[in-house]
Formats: sequence, C-alpha cells, structure tokens
Amino acid sequence: MSNERHIPHTQLNEQAQVTCSTCAACCCQLEVMLITDTGVPERFIDSDDWGGEVMRRLDDGWCAALDRDTMRCTIYEVRPLICREFEMGSPECLEERSGIDTIYR
Ligand code: SF4
Ligand code: SF4
Repeated sequence: MSNERHIPHTQLNEQAQVTCSTCAACCCQLEVMLITDTGVPERFIDSDDWGGEVMRRLDDGWCAALDRDTMRCTIYEVRPLICREFEMGSPECLEERSGIDTIYR
C-alpha cells in the first residue's frame, strides 16, 4: 500500500443532474409545430409565417400553455407530439439548458 494521500471526491455524473425540476422549462421557449392533433386547446394555438399551426408564445418567449409560477405544462395530457418526443437529457435538452444562466439573470 502506498503512502500517497487521496483527496476524497465524488464523481458526479453530469447527466444524472439533468432533470426538468432543476430547469426553467428551457425547451418550452422553442417553436413547437403541431404536426398531429393531440387536442391542444385553440387558445394556445397560433400560426406561423407559412400558415402552419404552432404553440402560441407570450411576450416573455415561453409557450402560452406553461404555468409561469410552477414552470410546468398546463396541458400535459394533450401536449403536442414534439413536446412528447423531446427527451430530457438529450443533446437538444442539454443545448437548451445551457441557456439557463441567462434565464435567471
Ligand atoms: S430543457 Fe430538458 S431539463 Fe429543461 S424542461 Fe426541457 S426537457 Fe426538461
Ligand atoms: S405544450 Fe407544454 S410541454 Fe409543450 S412547449 Fe408548451 S408548456 Fe412546454
């Protein structure tokens, strides 16, 4: 056994820290196209420059269906397909989360 001293440390897996509960719903600022009908209420639907249906966003940049207090989706059960397929911890998610510092400025 060597006399080398080991400094205790914890190996943190960065991926393990990625969770929506420590996020600011960063991905809910993205443009969400409605490519299938999942039952999103009309009041949350807007049209883009090409006439396609998208989730409406408010002046703060976030989706109109996001609860600003809890930062949770208020239409989770009928959320668009794109939202269902956006995977927590995916490269796209990590890319969006990288902007979290500027959200809480
Ligand atoms: S960016 Fe990722 S961690 Fe943040 S809310 Fe979206 S899926 Fe969750
Ligand atoms: S519908 Fe819900 S999950 Fe999708 S962008 Fe809006 S708030 Fe986020």
